[in-house]
Amino acid sequence: MILNVLGCSGSIAAGCKTTAFLLDGDVLIDAGTGVGDLALDALARIDHILISHSHLDHVLAIGLLADGVMRVRAAQNRGPIQVHALPETIAALRTHIFNGVIWPDFTRLPSAEQPMLELVPFAIGDVLALNGKHIEVLSAVHTVPAVGFAVDGGEPGWWVYTGDTGPNPALWARLRQMKVAHLVIETAFSDEERQLARISRHLCPAALGHELAQLEGSVDVHITHIKPGEMDAVMSEIGRLGTPHRIHAMAAGQEMRLG
Ligand SMILES: [Zn+2]
Ligand SMILES: [Zn+2]
Repeated sequence: MILNVLGCSGSIAAGCKTTAFLLDGDVLIDAGTGVGDLALDALARIDHILISHSHLDHVLAIGLLADGVMRVRAAQNRGPIQVHALPETIAALRTHIFNGVIWPDFTRLPSAEQPMLELVPFAIGDVLALNGKHIEVLSAVHTVPAVGFAVDGGEPGWWVYTGDTGPNPALWARLRQMKVAHLVIETAFSDEERQLARISRHLCPAALGHELAQLEGSVDVHITHIKPGEMDAVMSEIGRLGTPHRIHAMAAGQEMRLG
């Protein structure tokens, strides 16, 4: 499996795109602004979108993608793109985005019989089988209902993405039962903004240190969701944690081989 990092920034600026990971070209994990860098034929190949939570930086490309690929997918007789999320996230998408005001309802367009989008609920602990890939839904602790995802990479181990989350003991309990090859974990704020990190249920480097202490062994840890302009400050604070894990700053354009 190949995983392409389309976006991994906490917000936008030139060269900074919000969260989107593309797995084998057909499964998209979160639909941030990074999706917009794909060519039309690559966009049209996406059959499944997994959404970690309802915040705009993770969902805003769903509707634009549906609009952009409608003609190509209709010409190829492809079915609807399945959007997988928690029931609460699906309700939020219906109420606040696909409501005919912010964006047309692509779950009923171009026709109610053959729509562009199908919203499919999942629950924490589910293992989704999508185009030959197995992806487990993990818990997350955020200001809205939220999840992370673990992609089964076979013998080398799992690729784990925490989603947006504050401290999350349940995650570490689950990961202790898994062989983790890669951990993609957020650090949305610097230590200077630790109060903001706490109330917005994100991590700062000090909180990240407490989290990583609960992960056994020595794992490749990829830091995501850093705000534009904060990269150097946050990475140098993380560098002082003295963790046994191998820490990397994630970058858009990066390609990871899984399994
Ligand atoms: Zn969020
Ligand atoms: Zn976010």
